[in-house]
Amino acid sequence: MTNILVTGGAGYIGSHACKALKRAGYTPVCYDSLVTGWEEAVKFGPFEKGELSDRARLDDVFRKYKPAAVMHFAALSQVGESMREPGLYWRANVLSSLTLIEATVAAGVKNFVFSSTCATYGDQDNVVLNESSAQYPINAYGGSKRAIEDILRDFGASNGLESVIFRYFNVAGADPEAEVGEFHQPETHLIPLMLDAIAGKRDALTIFGTDYETPDGTCIRDYVHVCDLVDAHVLGLKWLEEGKGSRIFNLGTGSGFSVREVIDHSRSVTNKDVPYTEGDRRPGDCTKLVSGSTRAVEELGWTPDRSTLQTMISDAWRWHQTGHYDK
Ligand code: UDP
Repeated sequence: MTNILVTGGAGYIGSHACKALKRAGYTPVCYDSLVTGWEEAVKFGPFEKGELSDRARLDDVFRKYKPAAVMHFAALSQVGESMREPGLYWRANVLSSLTLIEATVAAGVKNFVFSSTCATYGDQDNVVLNESSAQYPINAYGGSKRAIEDILRDFGASNGLESVIFRYFNVAGADPEAEVGEFHQPETHLIPLMLDAIAGKRDALTIFGTDYETPDGTCIRDYVHVCDLVDAHVLGLKWLEEGKGSRIFNLGTGSGFSVREVIDHSRSVTNKDVPYTEGDRRPGDCTKLVSGSTRAVEELGWTPDRSTLQTMISDAWRWHQTGHYDK
């Protein structure tokens, strides 16, 4: 079996990626500090606890498992927090990723799959966001991810490291079998917060800003199902294995939904009222982020079939009711 080193494999997206890799016949080796991840989410391969910034530990793990490729998910990923503590984001995301990339190159591993973000594009009015769009991040999260993209480009040129970079739009939903799912502590993302509010586990959801220049005044996002997203990663890995070289792909569906529309869908999926209040804008939020690219569909053969709002919310709701790591 081919080993794949999965950083952040105990987190939301990383744990789903481990499941998809195992199903595709790989052995996912989860490397995670458990600072934001959950050991209960490591179910699909060996676990190595460690910090990304710990070069000696990374070198040991590369020696032990001889992975054919790296999938790098580990990161801090909250827009709001990145505005309050930019240093944390530049250190945890950029410096640690540099350490990982150097360890990867030193181990002779040539294939690298990286989680980037549509937040690298920033707030661009009336621009179709495709992979060649300019990148003007407006928060430290997006800035830190763009910097890692630059590092990968430079190591590609100098060391032959081939990378597939995925720029995620908004990831949502959960494993339909509810083996793994979304659980952050603290939670900051719209859909899990909304489901908590519906279930009475927390107070009303606050809509962050109702005065944006959108039809209903709330921010618009392009939501993609976590299972579709990780399927793209397996396709990206095969792309690299076939020697097709470094490439950047947006992962979004091209359909945008406002916060109010997500609330309406949640009401119809759960048949319950969504308690919410209207609040101020959250610093760092873009008005609208919707992918304008079909490159992943055309070139990777990606089929994001589960990425309807209905399926994402109902899978998240199932996980919310049956899963969880907060025992
Ligand atoms: N949002 C909101 N209330 C919340 C959390 C999020 O109105 O309690 C909005 C947020 O302003 C953004 C959208 O929901 O427009 C998605 O936010 P999330 O944090 O889930 O993802 P992000 O877009 O920051 O990656």
